[in-house]
Order: sequence, then C-alpha cells, then structure tokens
Amino acid sequence: MLLRSVQRNIFSRRTGPSFLARYNVRIMLPATQERKAELLESLAEIRSRVASASPTTPVVLVAVSKYKPASDIQACLEDGQLDFGENYVQELVEKAKELPLEIRWHFIGALQSNKAKTLAAIPNLYTVQTLTSEKAASALNKALPLDRTAPLNVLIQVNTSGEEAKSGLAPLSKNNPSGDLTQLAKFIVNQCPRLRLQGLMTIGALEQSLNSGDDNADFERLKETRNILQSFLLMEFQDTWKGKWGAETGDGRLLLSMGMSNDFEAAIKAGGDIVRVGTGIFGSRKTKADIAPVKVL
Ligand SMILES: *Cc1c(COP(=O)(O)O)cnc(C)c1O
Repeated sequence: MLLRSVQRNIFSRRTGPSFLARYNVRIMLPATQERKAELLESLAEIRSRVASASPTTPVVLVAVSKYKPASDIQACLEDGQLDFGENYVQELVEKAKELPLEIRWHFIGALQSNKAKTLAAIPNLYTVQTLTSEKAASALNKALPLDRTAPLNVLIQVNTSGEEAKSGLAPLSKNNPSGDLTQLAKFIVNQCPRLRLQGLMTIGALEQSLNSGDDNADFERLKETRNILQSFLLMEFQDTWKGKWGAETGDGRLLLSMGMSNDFEAAIKAGGDIVRVGTGIFGSRKTKADIAPVKVL
C-alpha cells in the first residue's frame, strides 16, 4: 500500500520524468564500491608523488575529469579533492549542475569567445587556464554574473613547444621581452577588473615529457617567460600592482600551470605551481575517434 503510493508519487505528473527534465534535475548514480576504491587508490598515489616532488611549497593538483562521469568526480571530492579540470564547455556546464558548489572548476580546453558567457555563468568556475586573446578576456570579464564577488582567475596559455597543433601565445625571451603575451597581460590588468591574471599555462611537447626527464625545455621556457613578464608588469604598474596578478596571497608572483600525468614530477621540480593530472587518477580515456558520432546509414 505504502509502496504503491510512493510509486505513484514518484511517477506522478509533478514528480515524474517530465518534471525532472523540465527543471533539469538529474539523478546521479554513485560510483560502485570497486570503482571508488580504484579511484581513491590512484588519487592517493598521485598525491604522494606530488608531495615528494615538492616537499616544501604547496602545489595545486587539478584532477582532469574530461569524459569521466560525475560519479567519479563525486568520489574524489568525498576524499577531499576540490580542484577539477574540464576541456569542453558543455560537458563542464552539465557536470557543474550535478555536483556540489564547493568544487573549484578549472577550464583547460580551447576557449572560443562565443562560449565565454556560458562558461562565466558557472558560479564555481575558479580558473580559465587557456586564455589567448583580448576578445575572450573581454567577453569573460563582461559575462561574469553581477552576484559573483570573487574575481575569475585566468592563466594565459603559452605555446612553449611551437608545435602548430597547440594553441597558445609565443613565449618571451630576453631578446624578445615584449610580444602578444605582454600585451594580453597588460590588457587583463588594465581593462578587465573582474579577472585576475593568475599566471601562465603550457602543455608542452609530448616528446619532451617522454624523453627529457627533468630537463624539460618547455617547462624552462615557461619559467623564463614568467620571469620576464613579471618584471615587465612590475615596471609597468608600479604603484597599483598589488593584487592585480599572481597568487591569491597577493605577493605578485605569477603561477605556472605545467605538467600532466607523464611529466608532473619534472614540472614541479622545474618550479610548477599547478599540475593537471587526468589519466593518472581516472585511468585512460576514450580518444576523440571513439566518441565521434556514429553515422547512421
Ligand atoms: C587532458 C588534459 C590534461 C590531462 O592529461 P593526462 O595526460 O591525462 O594527465 C592536462 N591538461 C590539459 C590541457 C588537457 O587537455
């Protein structure tokens, strides 16, 4: 009798599937015990490797959860992991709706300025790590909801390897201390009061991460670029600099986001502040080819 009435209520017009769909309520099934155990084991291993690579300074571990279900993220969150990285705006929007607000979302995918508004509407979007244009910076700055008080952290993506397939602005060097990168940084500090230029990000060449051990040329290039940019900003904005860029502690040090599953230890040893680890925590992903829509003939 009771069961019947519960069933009737669940499937009544008010609470049935159409109600859920209308209000965009999704029911997330938790990860299985087995999957949970697997995730917590790899998360613990990555954490301990991060800690031994950097015994003194804290490093932010971003768990890259693209293509992985929200239940995987929930399991890691319950173990105290707060920072998660996603590459696709729509996927991030969906997951952000399903998961608790305490998560700090890092957007690490290619950013088109026409998606800036959708992205900026996510209340717990913490960082956009892949900024490469004034247009996108402006769009984000403008689109942040008025009730959001915290600035949105942004990192400028740098193409340290020069590979054509990678996005990002050219690195700076002592001989070439000014460039698009410097202009964009200045623009953010000057024209985007709701953004905070937190640092620089690079992906780096796979070849470097597989073959060069701790002497990764991409990481060195990102570090050099950071040092040059930091000096430039200090000179340019002398009196008004405090709090406009760098870590939230307000010391004006630009952070470096570098290092993925294959090379995060080398990145930390080279001075990285933020590492982005996907496969190492969640296991292998489907490739782009696997998820391409199947043509129906
Ligand atoms: C997918 C991705 C990662 C994570 O890569 P793994 O090799 O799985 O750790 C890190 N950074 C960016 C920008 C990514 O797209």
